[in-house]
Amino acid sequence: MVFRRSFRLDLRVHSEYIFPKFINNLIDINMPTKYIIVTGGVLSGLGKGIASAAIGHLLSSKLRIVPIKCDGYLNVDPGTMNPFEHGEVFVLDDGGEVDMDFGHYERFLGVNCKSTWNLTMGKVFDMVRQKERRGDYLGKTVQYIPHVTNVIKNHIFGVAKDESADLIIVEIGGTVGDIENELFLEAMREMKEDVGRENIVYVHLTYVPIPYGVNEQKSKPTQQSVNLLKQRGIFPDVIIGRCSEFLTDSVKAKISNFCDVEPEAVITGLDVEDIYEIPLIFEKEGLAGILHKKLNIYSPPDMIRWGHLIEHLKNPKKEITVAMCGKYTQLEDSYASIIESFHHCSAHLGCKINLKWVETTDLRDDGILDDVNGVVVPGGFGSRGTEGKIEVIRLAREKNIPYLGLCLGLQLAVIEFSRNVCHLEGANSTEMDPKTPHPVIDILPEQKEVIDKGGTMRLGAYPAVLKESSLTHSLYKSLEVSERHRHRYEVNPEYHQALTEKGMVFSGNSKDGRLVEFIELPELNFFLATQAHPELKSRMEEPAPLFYGFVKACMNGHRS
Ligand code: GLN
Repeated sequence: MVFRRSFRLDLRVHSEYIFPKFINNLIDINMPTKYIIVTGGVLSGLGKGIASAAIGHLLSSKLRIVPIKCDGYLNVDPGTMNPFEHGEVFVLDDGGEVDMDFGHYERFLGVNCKSTWNLTMGKVFDMVRQKERRGDYLGKTVQYIPHVTNVIKNHIFGVAKDESADLIIVEIGGTVGDIENELFLEAMREMKEDVGRENIVYVHLTYVPIPYGVNEQKSKPTQQSVNLLKQRGIFPDVIIGRCSEFLTDSVKAKISNFCDVEPEAVITGLDVEDIYEIPLIFEKEGLAGILHKKLNIYSPPDMIRWGHLIEHLKNPKKEITVAMCGKYTQLEDSYASIIESFHHCSAHLGCKINLKWVETTDLRDDGILDDVNGVVVPGGFGSRGTEGKIEVIRLAREKNIPYLGLCLGLQLAVIEFSRNVCHLEGANSTEMDPKTPHPVIDILPEQKEVIDKGGTMRLGAYPAVLKESSLTHSLYKSLEVSERHRHRYEVNPEYHQALTEKGMVFSGNSKDGRLVEFIELPELNFFLATQAHPELKSRMEEPAPLFYGFVKACMNGHRS
């Protein structure tokens, strides 16, 4: 099945480029959607998500690219998985809770992903079961092949059509040989018949070790992994070998020879300090040119601005330390988007940002903030560690240390202010203390209805109207903003007046005014919190405004 849609490439833009010969074929108003399938071998954790996102970045200048991630697990989505197990749950505009690789896709590609772009085996089986119950299979025996693989392929083709995609990049989670992803691999094998061999490229990411004492790049794991892939009928066109050095010509030749790929299609996936260097490495290795040739496309990478940002990142002129007060601080993956957001600020402000991880479950030390320039309280669930965080917020407020609160960080700032400034003794969130005399944070009746209907959280992007001339407004430079949410509780409207009377400013509210989206304390240099998760929309080329403002305040070193 090949979806044809109109071809939107503006070739005039590239008049300064010398067009390779194959470009002539491109002047075709019916270019079919192209596909790049990314699989992984040898080890997990080699960075398939980042490799896929970086490939997308290289090709994104002229093509509408849609990334799709296939995960072999049976959960319908990662929303219910513990951060210890699965890292951060990434939330999309449409409220979808997806794998954190979607964060990489959005940050490298500058797109807003949709939940349909994440296909888990749980979702696939759910679709097959629904079709079977509806009688769609007309009395047939429902089988893995072709019924399950057809559901996978049709889903991918459906996304391609709905999004009018020029290029779909499908990342297959896991490692070749895992039972979990066999059906996805089989569907990917079959796909070349549906879309035509000239419209699909298989990229395999492997590992090239340099064993201690041998001191030589070893290609055998790659050969074995490619053999596993070939046994499944997939013959890779491009092999990316993750290695601590650039692959030597001889190792490239060996991989090329044993794995039947052209030598120039063996690419180094260099270990780098910073993941944002990967597109630059791939470009240096000639990956974009190879993909252009194999797919008969032309979308030259524009790496100049990106390169400048990476330069800034590597040569910071200033340095600050920010306290991150969380519960999962041993597991940095659970705060991946926040870390990335700081990274984006580093690149734009030329400032190295050290994160001091503060575990708030047993906080006793008043001097905890002595060596930091700012404090962040990120999102979180449950009561463990919250009293410690409230203490840290009190210190930040009293010492006028820049504070940025994210979701739970807003709720706890409201609790701290209620207790210590409004003198509402025992004020709390009903999440932590259902019997609190002052439920300043509570589940609102409208949210209770959602819970009764089976939805448990307020998820996805919601608009907020900002207060003119507030700090929040000056950072966003707009009076209406949209940020993503993942929470149940809200500032209780019954306490709005008490809080504002004592000087807390609600600098952003939902359109109907009932929900508090942003708060700030204007007397302080920078004390701002939001019910949303602005870190989810920060991009290398466009840092989240609140983070940017917060880092600038930290750099100014305001202390009372
Ligand atoms: N636990 C809080 C709530 O559900 C905050 C959630 C969050 O920080 N993401 O409202």
